[in-house]
Parts: sequence; C-alpha cells; structure tokens
Amino acid sequence: MSPQPDQVLALFEQTGAYLKGHFRLTSGLHSSEYLQCALVLRYPPHAETLGRKLAAKLQNLVQEKPVGMVVSPAMGGIIIGHEVGRALGVPAIFTERENGVMALRRGFRVDPGSNVVVVEDVLTTGGSTREVIELLRQAGANVLAAGSIIDRSGGAVDLGVPRAALATMKATSWAQDQCPLCAQGSPVVKPGSRLV
Ligand SMILES: [Zn+2]
Repeated sequence: MSPQPDQVLALFEQTGAYLKGHFRLTSGLHSSEYLQCALVLRYPPHAETLGRKLAAKLQNLVQEKPVGMVVSPAMGGIIIGHEVGRALGVPAIFTERENGVMALRRGFRVDPGSNVVVVEDVLTTGGSTREVIELLRQAGANVLAAGSIIDRSGGAVDLGVPRAALATMKATSWAQDQCPLCAQGSPVVKPGSRLV
C-alpha cells in the first residue's frame, strides 16, 4: 500500500522538513511554506521507505515493463534515486551540470535501448527532469516514466512520459510586490539559509 499524501506530508512535519515562514523560492516567488526533502531524507530508514513507495508506484505505472536503471538529477535526486534503485534491484546513477548542461559524468552511461526511469525529490516546473529525459533519449534509452516524492505543480506539469508522485500539492506563492507577508513587514529568507 502506498502512503496517502497526508502521511507523506506528516513524515515531513515529524522530521522538521515542512518549513513554515516566509521564503524566497528559486523561482523568485515568495511562499509561506517550503518542503526541504534533504531534512526527511537525512534519516536513512525514511529515505528507504519513501524509495520503496515511489518504486512501487513507478513499477505500477509502467506495468510489466522491466526497469533497468534509475537516473536522477544531482543533487536533489541522488538519495531518493538511490533508494528507488535499491527497491527495484537496479543501478541508480545521476546527472550533473557541466558548463550549465546536464551530463552523465564519472563513467556513468546508459545502453541504447535500455529502459530507464527518472527520479527527482521535488518537481516544481519539471525543468531538471525534462533535461534528464532529453539527455537519456539522446543516448538512445527508453524513458518509461518519471517520479518524485513531491509534486509542487498540483499535477500540472506534463513531461511527456507517465509520472508519479507520493504527494501532490499546489503551494501558494506570490510575486514579491503581491506578497502578503512582505506587506506585513516580515523578513524573507531563502530556504535552507538558516538552522531549523
Ligand atoms: Zn514576501
């Protein structure tokens, strides 16, 4: 059984990974909440549990097709990708940016014709995952599906492949000049820039 989305979010709350405050997101928008996956994934048993649940969802999504490898964008996707690979019993590799371009380094390679899934921690716009999918296709791999722990797009992002997430949410965010927290004079912080 997969956990209900609220159970996944409860795990974030228990581990202090569900941050409430006044944040400036990577997009430049302001928000009153932020999910810091690294704070839940720092506990290996939680990482393993989430990996197992996401692996089950992905395998269900691709039905009987055997998954040969998990590929994740660094840094955020590495731990959860590794745990999904463990659950599926397949290798897990990661991509990194080289001069701004997503690339396979460290001797990592995918075989043409191999079946792969792409795993991320949080999907917001899907930009990183899309770049990994494109890289894998150029290498001749079949991208069967993509998965993330959290889907912050409210389900809106279309990657052109079947997609799974353990929790889907639509986080409220505002442009700075429309932010009610700024209007109250509350100082804005970058997530992760302070101890929690
Ligand atoms: Zn603000």
